[in-house]
Amino acid sequence: MTAHPYWYRVLLDLRALLFPSNCFGCGRFDRFLCRDCRHQIRALSQEALQSRTVYYRTSDSARGLSVWYLASYEGVLKECLLRYKHQGATQYAKLLGVILNGAVSKIPAAPQLVLVPMPSRRSKTRERGYNHLRLLLRCRDATAARIPVCWLLRASYFRTSQVGSSAGDRERNARRVRVNRRNFQRLRKRYPLAQLLLVDDVCTTGATLSAAASVLADTGCKIFGAVTLCSAKRHKS
Ligand SMILES: [Zn+2]
Repeated sequence: MTAHPYWYRVLLDLRALLFPSNCFGCGRFDRFLCRDCRHQIRALSQEALQSRTVYYRTSDSARGLSVWYLASYEGVLKECLLRYKHQGATQYAKLLGVILNGAVSKIPAAPQLVLVPMPSRRSKTRERGYNHLRLLLRCRDATAARIPVCWLLRASYFRTSQVGSSAGDRERNARRVRVNRRNFQRLRKRYPLAQLLLVDDVCTTGATLSAAASVLADTGCKIFGAVTLCSAKRHKS
């Protein structure tokens, strides 16, 4: 773990004095995220790759989609991700991005892999002021960056927020994923044998990933699998 420079720690301490707060990971009276909890999150990038299978339909069959991830969606990681995604806490982008990078760089090698991030609604991205997956993907190191990124999917206008939504709502939302035709043509030209690796921050029910896989499979794309930063534990397989 690299220590923060002295001046930075002094600044954090001053902020803690002016705006008293508790660490959202352990509740200790400290900064917003204490050093131990930060270290705990960073260490997740060294975990072994796990996988679960979600299923998706094509026009003629049902297929399994392997979803790889390093961490469970729980505890301090979950708190951090929620703050990053929904409360504008972009200061955690690098910390979380390192875990996604760790997962991507451990994916079994395959020819012409292309990362396909799951889309966010435009209105949501505008409201947040950032695309949360784009920021996370910026943290890829040389190993992970060997896999190019193609923004092949877009969210339909009517896709609603997933916060607090039921599995049924998620299913309906998931159907509202579309292929970006222009980027699809570009992909075909540049990587004619592309095998797609879907990317998302968290896999909960897997409905969104499987809907995206269905839409892409129906356009003739080859789906290799999916990679997420973390996955809901109860679905571990
Ligand atoms: Zn803590």
